[in-house]
Amino acid sequence: MGDSGDLKLIDDSGKRLDGRKLDELRPIKIEANVLRRADGSAYLEWGGNKILAAVYGPREAHPRHLQDPTKAIVQCRYNMAAFSVMDRKRPGPDRRSVEISKILSEALAYVVFTEQFPRTSIDVFIEVLQADAGTRCSGLTAASVALADAGIPMKDLIVSCAFGKVGGKVVLDLYKEEDNLGEADVPIAVVPRTEEIVLLQMDGHLTVEELNHGLTMTMDACKYIYGLQRDALKNRYSTGMDNEENPKEASK
Ligand code: ADP
Repeated sequence: MGDSGDLKLIDDSGKRLDGRKLDELRPIKIEANVLRRADGSAYLEWGGNKILAAVYGPREAHPRHLQDPTKAIVQCRYNMAAFSVMDRKRPGPDRRSVEISKILSEALAYVVFTEQFPRTSIDVFIEVLQADAGTRCSGLTAASVALADAGIPMKDLIVSCAFGKVGGKVVLDLYKEEDNLGEADVPIAVVPRTEEIVLLQMDGHLTVEELNHGLTMTMDACKYIYGLQRDALKNRYSTGMDNEENPKEASK
């Protein structure tokens, strides 16, 4: 969060610098089953974010001391490619990606029926190919489609989206400039069917009224994104993409 100085992030007609209304999402495109080797996968474009998610498992957890005899563990690895941001990002894990991996693992574990797969690991890889703020939300939204694509039993999908405060106004789905110069950024993740919140972080300051308004706005957005996730999963079964790409599937 920073100081926007003389730059007006909201213009006189109430529009944002990228032309969006305060409660408008960036365009989102989701495709399921994009990687042949993974058990489940998804590709997602969300504004300037481009994300690949791949799921492997449930498979025997390694190292073995990680195994839980009562349930599966969900191990998510969030990674930003070196070329995903303007300045080259130093490859490999850093404090931020370790933190994001941990919170995304916990959010995903909440919806997976982990007790059905004791001693196993469900491995979720999130690769950010291009970043424009909101990558943890985009990554989580893509990962839950990849989990469903892998056929892993889940209570529901998880949808994630952020809201924030820029130019004194509560806005949905911050892009990079708003993230840098705005006053607050609040990524949340929800289980749409029950409206449970499984992740909520807050960077910056908001009043209780602003927080409540933001939460309501974001919950509505999550329900819309939930529709896009389900469409991606339906398309995966109706397009027959496997048959073109995967000779093994075609011969079944
Ligand atoms: P999120 O992507 O979930 O919003 P942050 O708020 O931490 O997470 O980051 C906001 C944006 O800042 C990222 O989407 C990315 O565009 C940029 N960013 C994050 N880390 C780096 C980095 N190491 N180098 C350059 N840009 C970065």
